[in-house]
Parts: sequence; C-alpha cells; structure tokens
Amino acid sequence: MKFIKVFLTISLCIFALLGDYIVFKSKYSSSFPFRALSDSVVHAGVGLFSSLLFFTRDHSLTSNVCIYNVTLCTIASSVIDIDHFFVAKSIYLKDLSGLNQRGVFHCTTFWLLLTTILLSYTYFYKHVDAYISTWMLVVAFTSHHIRDANRRGLWCCPFGHTPPLPTNLYITLLATLPHLFSVMCAFMRPVIVKPSFDYSLIV
Ligand SMILES: [Zn+2]
Repeated sequence: MKFIKVFLTISLCIFALLGDYIVFKSKYSSSFPFRALSDSVVHAGVGLFSSLLFFTRDHSLTSNVCIYNVTLCTIASSVIDIDHFFVAKSIYLKDLSGLNQRGVFHCTTFWLLLTTILLSYTYFYKHVDAYISTWMLVVAFTSHHIRDANRRGLWCCPFGHTPPLPTNLYITLLATLPHLFSVMCAFMRPVIVKPSFDYSLIV
C-alpha cells in the first residue's frame, strides 16, 4: 500500500504539471475552446488522483463505496467551473473568454462553510455515507481551487484574493492535502451502525 501511495502521489504531481503545460503553454493554448476543455479534463484528473490517494489509507470501505466516491470527486472537481457560465449568463463557450469575475463555486470560503456544515450534520446524525461523500467535496474543491490559485490566487470572499500560489507550493499542497484529509476523515468518522445506502444499485 505504501508503494501505491508513493506512485499515486508522484503521478498526481506529474499529471498536474504536464496538464498545466498542455493547457497553458502548448502550441494549442492560444485556442480558448482547447484551453477551456483541456483545463476541465486536467481538473477532473487531479480530482481522480487526489480521491484515489484519499482512499489508499482506509481499508474498511467496500470497493463500491470507493468507486462511487472517486467518481463523485472526479466529476465535482471539474464541474466547479460551471459557474463561469453563470457569471457570463450564457451557455456558449465563446462568451466565457475574458471573464474577469469569478463565480461562487470559486469562492474558497463558500466551500469551507458548506462542507463544515455538511460534515457537522453528517457526523452528529451518523450519516456515514454522506460524511465520506462530503470529504470528497472537500478534496474536489481544494484541488480545483489550489490549481486555479497558481494563476489567480485563492478567492476568500468577502476578504479578497491571495496572491497567486508559487508552483512548488501549489504542487506540495496538491500532493499532501489528500493524505491529511484522509487522516482527518478517519479520526473524526462517526461510528458506523450499518450502511444506509446500497451502492451496488448505482455502481
Ligand atoms: Zn476553476
């Protein structure tokens, strides 16, 4: 398991760096549709590796629970960018170019507040499945925001933006936070009585 952790951590870092190069510095980067679509793919891939890392620590979960939650995290990591359409008030990709305002899903304080409420609720009412899925949202939004922050900083509304994160700090955070969240999840996990949801129905 230690080898898998190291392998996934290195893969995550390489994928993020390579993805950033392809999205922003390759010969296709001048095309806005290419940048937008490839950026979404890289966000999804970073979410996928991060959630896989998250589950390398916990051996008590069934594979169906892991597959469901990894899928959730992968999709959520990419879907965060949907708020660009809300800001542009348009469903067309061409209208997203040149937006200088960020949508609510890019506000780090919004997600901190939302996930803290959800984690507290699911912990106290012992909804174990929802508790783990909420951690997937934590992994998804942190990986997305940290990657975006390499170029634009973190937006902590209403307090403003941080400066852009240096690449080495951004990569270090990407590689370490899933491990930290996994430990926190296990440490604070509510006592399981019995699974409340049959994942085999959807996986
Ligand atoms: Zn984004």
